[in-house]
Parts: sequence; structure tokens; C-alpha cells
Amino acid sequence: MILYNDKIVERRDVAIDIEDRGYQFGDGVYEVIRVYEGQCFFLDEHLDRLERSAKEIRLDWPCSRKDLQHNIEGLIRENQLSDGMVYLQITRGVANRNHLFPADTASVLTGYVRELVRPVEIMEKGIHTKLLDDIRWLRCDIKSLNLLGNVLLKQEAHEDQCKEAILHRDGTVTEGSSTNVFIVKEGKLFTHPATNLILNGITRLHIINLAKKAGVDIIEQPFTIDTLLQADEVFVSSTTMEIVPVVQIDQEIISGGKSGKITKALQKHFEDSIKLLKI
Ligand code: PLP
Repeated sequence: MILYNDKIVERRDVAIDIEDRGYQFGDGVYEVIRVYEGQCFFLDEHLDRLERSAKEIRLDWPCSRKDLQHNIEGLIRENQLSDGMVYLQITRGVANRNHLFPADTASVLTGYVRELVRPVEIMEKGIHTKLLDDIRWLRCDIKSLNLLGNVLLKQEAHEDQCKEAILHRDGTVTEGSSTNVFIVKEGKLFTHPATNLILNGITRLHIINLAKKAGVDIIEQPFTIDTLLQADEVFVSSTTMEIVPVVQIDQEIISGGKSGKITKALQKHFEDSIKLLKI
């Protein structure tokens, strides 16, 4: 079962129009929400970000927030989802192809769920990554459907046997192709500030809070490729990957090729916060 505007229906009963602006222009926004044991993790924060993304691209919000929350819960229940994710997207709707906003077209909201296991192996062993030039547009703070830059970068990393691309603009590290990037240097945690150049990850925000509670200094400041490569620890974060250590960047081995102490401690705090959901 999937969510189509305000109804939960069979997937086969829904047809997306070939002139849906999401399909033709990538004109829309989306969210990915983690579900653990049937419960959404940070639902409010994801819906806040979805609302913000919609506002930034001047997209009409299609329904009340309360109804959407209710439908997300219904979607999880109807599909008997335990561990997985909810994908939501809103497009500017269906209209004759024209770059200009259509005058009176209703937005189209779709949502579905998918089972997902926690990536425990890479969370423990870490990943290899590839440094690439950040070729994306200048509004990476919007969770827009336009992911072509991210897609090309992730594919390039994959073709080089890397799990993630770490991106930089003129030597300043921004984020990953689908993750935020953190480094540890002399016990302090650094990550790029939440500007237009990165997506302000919900996981990123959670990690910042966990670090503060654990007494780890967190500095939201841009850093260079040199600083990245000389870091004591590096990790990436996202809703689906949680916290994953980076053990290699191009040919450079990080943290002796193993997960670092602070990374492990934050993973433990993260795990504890998931357990709190179940109480
Ligand atoms: N940065 C980019 C470009 C992303 O696509 C994502 C997630 O998809 C993130 C960061 C991490 O965001 P979140 O923690 O909200 O999943």
C-alpha cells in the first residue's frame, strides 16, 4: 500500500502523469524517515524540514500536518513495517510542460515504505571513500528531487570501489553525496556549518546533540581537504546509514584503517537513543 495525496491505496491503482513536474523537472521535495520497530525516528524534525524545503521552492503544502502524520502512521501499519523507512515526496503537480509555475495546479504527494536493515557491518568496519569536486547547485540545503549531481558523484565513487563520495568546493569539504561528514581532531568534533552548501541532516543534528551531552566539543566550521586527511577520525552520517566510520579516503588510510574512539562512543549513544524509542 502507498500514500497518494490523502489516501492509502494499492500501488497498482496509482498512475503518475507523464507531465507531473516532479517527473519532468525534478520540481519537488522529499524526505526519508527511519522507522525502528514500527516507530518513526525524529518524525517532527523530518516534517519540519519537508515544510521548509517546500517553502524554499514556493511549493504549496498539500494537506494539514496532522493528516500527514496520521497517514504516515497508517502507511506503516497497513504495510506492517517494523524496521525500514518511509519515503515521502511532494511535486508541483501536473501541467503542460512549461518552466513557469502552473497557475492553479494542485501539488502531488506520494509516500511508500520499504524494509531496511541497519548497515551493521559497515558501521563496525568502516568504508572507503573518494574525494570529488562538489558539482551540485548552490541550494543543497533544500531536499529537492533534483539529485543528478549526487547520483553522478555516488556512481563515480562506486566505480572506484568506494561506498561514498566526500565532496569539496575549492578544497573546502562540504558533505557526502548522501551523507554529512564529521571529523575528529584532538578530541574535538568538526562538521561543515548548516549553510546553503549542505543538507542539514536530521542525523547530523542528532549527533551534535549527542556530542554536546557527552561533553565532546563540537565545532561547526568549514575545514579543508588537508585537515580532513590529517583527521584522527572521520565518519559520515545519514538517516539510513546512521554513523559510519570512514577508514580510507582515496589512497589515504584514516585512523589506522579502523573506527575511532569518539566515533564508537557516538555510535553507542546513537544506539541508546534508538532504544529509548521502544520504551
Ligand atoms: N546530505 C545529503 C546530500 C543527503 O542526501 C543526506 C540524506 O539523504 C544527508 C546529508 C543526511 O541527512 P539525514 O541525516 O537527514 O538523512
